[in-house]
Amino acid sequence: MKHFDFDVVVVGGGHAGVDAAHASARMGARTALVTLKRESIGVMSCNPAIGGLGKGHLVREIDALDGVMGRVADKAGIQFRLLNRRKGPAVQGPRAQSDRKIYRAEMLAEMESQPNLSIIEGEVTDFIMDGARVDGVLLADESAIRAKSTVLTTGTFLRGVIHIGDLSYSGGRMGDKPSVRLAERIDSFGLPLGRLKTGTPPRLDGRTIDWDKLEKQPGDDDPVMFSFMSKAPFVRQVSCGITHTNEKTHDIIRKNLERSAMYGGHIEGVGPRYCPSIEDKVVRFADKTSHQIFLEPESLDDHTVYPNGISTSLPEDVQSDYVRSIYALENAVILQPGYAIEYDYVDPRALDLRLSLRDVGGLFLAGQINGTTGYEEAAAQGVVAGLNAAAEAMDRDPITFSRAESYIGVMVDDLTTRGVTEPYRMFTSRAEFRLSLRADNADQRLTPKGLAIGCVGEGRRRLFEGKIERLSSARTRLEAQSFTPRQIAELGLKVNQDGARRNGFEILAFPEMSFEQATRLDGTLSDIDEETRRQLERDALYANYIERQNRDVAAMKRDEQQVIPQSFSFDAIEGLSNELKGKLNAARPGNLAQAARIDGMTPAALTLILARLRRES
Ligand code: FAD
Repeated sequence: MKHFDFDVVVVGGGHAGVDAAHASARMGARTALVTLKRESIGVMSCNPAIGGLGKGHLVREIDALDGVMGRVADKAGIQFRLLNRRKGPAVQGPRAQSDRKIYRAEMLAEMESQPNLSIIEGEVTDFIMDGARVDGVLLADESAIRAKSTVLTTGTFLRGVIHIGDLSYSGGRMGDKPSVRLAERIDSFGLPLGRLKTGTPPRLDGRTIDWDKLEKQPGDDDPVMFSFMSKAPFVRQVSCGITHTNEKTHDIIRKNLERSAMYGGHIEGVGPRYCPSIEDKVVRFADKTSHQIFLEPESLDDHTVYPNGISTSLPEDVQSDYVRSIYALENAVILQPGYAIEYDYVDPRALDLRLSLRDVGGLFLAGQINGTTGYEEAAAQGVVAGLNAAAEAMDRDPITFSRAESYIGVMVDDLTTRGVTEPYRMFTSRAEFRLSLRADNADQRLTPKGLAIGCVGEGRRRLFEGKIERLSSARTRLEAQSFTPRQIAELGLKVNQDGARRNGFEILAFPEMSFEQATRLDGTLSDIDEETRRQLERDALYANYIERQNRDVAAMKRDEQQVIPQSFSFDAIEGLSNELKGKLNAARPGNLAQAARIDGMTPAALTLILARLRRES
């Protein structure tokens, strides 16, 4: 029986686990990452892609704090596309298809080269307890790992059940055992648990797809990277193919619906509404005769293809039939059938803003175990839990993220105050301050915070400080200019001829203005580099809106300062409905702003809470 001693132990080497362990180690905590298989570190259980709308923002924020997901996704990226390119920068989302093997290899390399971080292969079966506090973990081989803080990131493995048609068996995901013993141990904490489900499509043999017949979708000509440290793709870029389901496909699916695990009544968990299975699409959008499918290569040196858009829990023979009814897939061979998985999650309202369980000391949870779906959501929670696990182990102040500063803050606040009714996924519409929370300015928002807490390395610090220096000196030069309305009109802009002068930064705020056009009035700015020009355009475009938004941010911050102590009794407030009392007791908001965001909260109820808080203080 081996014994280890660490500051922080992270359980699970998926997307939450790797970013949690790396963040903790960057903070200087002696960290262990315990996972079932070393070679499964960074495995993408479903689609081989990172980023997208809202999710791309999270990856940029992780990167701004020097986390690993963005860097690794850049190294493994085989096709980069900036989604919503034609819309404003606030809702644009970087996305990249990844080579699965490179992603895994690069992630392992990141973990192995990080100081303070040890990787231990093994199954965690139990916690070491010190009274009501978790004091580390026990492994199946009876090794004991003591740690001041423990981060649990076991994804879909807690009592996971895989479903393919009417076939079902226990599994953490295809090819992996579930974590049953650990789930039983977690039961003993009496945490609020629920059941969720998700699904994945069959994987196809690319050699059996008729690529010549297909419309192709290449990546962008000017690829946008995730990491503020990366300049250009690292490996060969590829196109994916586009095809569609048709009425024959839908007929096959409709005829076999009762054989689908999801429709045959074999699954009770709730699935992701925004990532529906093909059965869901055929039933819910019955009038649509076709659905788009992207055929995404999974690797540069492997023939496996991921057909994005047809996840399923139909039996294998039906999967084969419907796949072969699709244009260019008439001879396609399935390498691995699609399946659905059902698993336990913990109601995230049991967590505080550090992602630490309120009733079990020393234990942090991150990733799909908290009811989220997606690699990016998992990794972002990993960063929060990893930083705080390290902070707690080293007796440092908690590190929390506000809704006003980051999508990370939006997600953690949503989860801990509102809980989930379906797998939680990030969207730009979840962020009320999205004009300032852009993917392009994630470093300006978060790298200074990362530097202050000590999780950002020297290389990034130098790069960031250089960038900020260039930006602010260019902005100062723009703001020092002064042009008459007549000069501005000569640029083709419609401005009031009221005599009010404007500076160069204000001129850049006109949506139709590019830096190059704006500087026609003053050629001395031609020495400003390309990256600084583009960033100034984006910053100027949103400057006026952000000024207005800042008033709302200030109001929210005032409410955040109105702290609600853990001992505060909502039950004792007269006039508050029992339904709201129940919701407040489940979420236990830490301040008035959080209480305001609870579903069904009314101004009258908030006034009652505030009155009682004032009376008690
Ligand atoms: P995971 O990536 O699952 O990692 C869990 C890790 O914990 C693994 O490394 C495992 O080995 C380890 N582990 C588990 N138990 C133990 C133990 N007892 N001891 C030690 N180590 C342990 N997301 C989407 O956005 N869209 C989708 O369409 C989608 N479909 C999915 C379909 C399927 C079938 C699955 C399985 C997942 C799907 N996901 C999808 C979700 C996505 O894969 C997850 O959200 C993401 O991987 C969660 O990351 P995580 O780190 O929380 O967990």
